[in-house]
Amino acid sequence: MPKTATLPCRGWVHRYPDRVLMLVTTQCASYCRYCTRSRIVGDPGQTFKREEFEMQIEYLKRTPQVRDVLLSGGDPLVLAPKILEELLSRLREIPHIEIIRIGSRVPVFMPMRVTQELVDMLAKYHPLWMNIHVNHSNEITKELAEACDRLTRAGIPLGNQSVLLAGVNDNVHIQRQLVQDLVRIRVRPYYLYQCDLVEGAGHFRTPVAKGIEIMEGLRGHTSGYAVPQFIVDAPGGGGKIPLMPNYLLSMSDHKVILRNYEGYITTYEEPTDYIPSDAAKFKGLKRPEPGQTGLTGLLDGDQMFIKPEGFDELHNRGGIQHRLKDENKWKPLGIGSGESSD
Ligand SMILES: *Cc1c(COP(=O)(O)O)cnc(C)c1O
Repeated sequence: MPKTATLPCRGWVHRYPDRVLMLVTTQCASYCRYCTRSRIVGDPGQTFKREEFEMQIEYLKRTPQVRDVLLSGGDPLVLAPKILEELLSRLREIPHIEIIRIGSRVPVFMPMRVTQELVDMLAKYHPLWMNIHVNHSNEITKELAEACDRLTRAGIPLGNQSVLLAGVNDNVHIQRQLVQDLVRIRVRPYYLYQCDLVEGAGHFRTPVAKGIEIMEGLRGHTSGYAVPQFIVDAPGGGGKIPLMPNYLLSMSDHKVILRNYEGYITTYEEPTDYIPSDAAKFKGLKRPEPGQTGLTGLLDGDQMFIKPEGFDELHNRGGIQHRLKDENKWKPLGIGSGESSD
């Protein structure tokens, strides 16, 4: 079973346990200079082939943990509708695929492509979700609003993913206007991305702190529906990491100290008689596939620590064993080896 990002073939990223990113074309309706996939996007020589698609379908069929397939690229909505429909129907034949998502900038850059006919075709493959990509209110035209209206009326929930860009939208007033204009056309701001390290696009980068400042200016100041999550896609394949200002100021064993968006500081008394739902009942429900451990695994007690690669070699200097021998497993002190923990 795949441990981390796996590429059974090109045009495919299985990075998270239950969902897969499928790159179905390298073509877009417009080309963004800061595009995180600009190395492949726009290059017809790297476009994806039918054999590769068949391999992806085979992989999906034998990988029941995948319940969410994300079509991206390139832009899936530039595909010929017949091809796109074939793709969707092939995915829908796989029973464990619960939702299909499309990431597209076509409603923004080629809204005339989002015809009633196309939308009716998409609606045959529900539950289908879509994320569009708008960075500035100036991109919200009447044509985009109408395309979004057709999509939402067809039952396709719309989200927006935007990128924080220096000199374009790196300002809390611009961002507040953007997210409010989006919810007016029934598009829910989903992610605001820190600009990736893309060759030739360094001048678009802002400090991460700018994103935090923007989130500070959104949460509480406007509708919760309008507030996206600020995400840094960690270099080195670390994946998406959400960041936000700190609202938890301090805590003791019975109290947490919180602050709100206005700087009002308050306390929340923890319950003294809390009985968690019976953990034993859920023990058997633990998902076996990789990617479910991490910090959740530490909290669950599956393991006691996570070590960086090479940690043991570095610290094995031939001295006496002075820790519990037990390998990364929880054992109450005093039981087992008889050695004491330090
Ligand atoms: C962004 C992404 C997803 C989807 O992430 P969500 O947080 O579920 O929207 C899935 N796979 C890959 C490789 C991604 O980069």
